[in-house]
Amino acid sequence: MAMRKLGRLERRWSYASWTAPSHYNLLMGLMPHTSPTHVFASEYYKRDFLKFNERLGCAGIAFKSLVPRLYLPPFLKDTLGYSTHAMVSLPVLNPKTPLNSGFDSFRLMDRHNDMRAMVRAMKFQKEKPSFYLLNVGETHYPYALPDEPEEDWPRIHGVHGVFKHLDDAVAGGKLKGKRGKFFDDRQLSDLRQRQIRAVKYLDTVFEEMFDLLPKNTYVTVTADHGELFGEDGYFGHGPIVHQKVLEVPFIEGKLR
Ligand SMILES: [Zn+2]
Repeated sequence: MAMRKLGRLERRWSYASWTAPSHYNLLMGLMPHTSPTHVFASEYYKRDFLKFNERLGCAGIAFKSLVPRLYLPPFLKDTLGYSTHAMVSLPVLNPKTPLNSGFDSFRLMDRHNDMRAMVRAMKFQKEKPSFYLLNVGETHYPYALPDEPEEDWPRIHGVHGVFKHLDDAVAGGKLKGKRGKFFDDRQLSDLRQRQIRAVKYLDTVFEEMFDLLPKNTYVTVTADHGELFGEDGYFGHGPIVHQKVLEVPFIEGKLR
């Protein structure tokens, strides 16, 4: 797998159960956490921040470096001289949201599921290091690859416009009893397989991206929270309290 070239695959935990707060947290510089016991949160944050010295090849970066804005992009841009860019797939992260602060460019992509289009749009400056946030959407419902025609996206039995009606079938993330049959076990398993397929596909796009990146580049690729496929009656993510909605894979490292 291309992603594994970066390092060890870790099971970690997102700070939030859906896209917007999860990204806010990531852009504060806090990566998905390890849920350690017997540690004060402030200690954990401090230690987590020290890793930015290694990530960025710097010395002297600490949590207090981000005070008072507590936001990574303006720190990278104004203090470390990075050119800072975001390309996002999901409309809840669009450039008009408060997340867009301290970026030289911030773009909502035309399609929600095309990381390859982002990779092709990446630009680098020789004289400046670059930071890129890439929020990928292939792993989001309906877990569709970019070449998959919309009419082949999974549809719920007898219902047209799956996005419109998803809320009817799922209340507070929990499948509604009387319509629980909207997602039977086989459909849930198919949806899960689709998400796995999306991750495998994305791995090939990572390979392409790795070939393009100049040395002085820091990239964060996010898909930002867990997803439930019927565990304890839940589907998706968002207004859900369940371990699985926070469970995420995490890999970081340097390309050699
Ligand atoms: Zn998300």
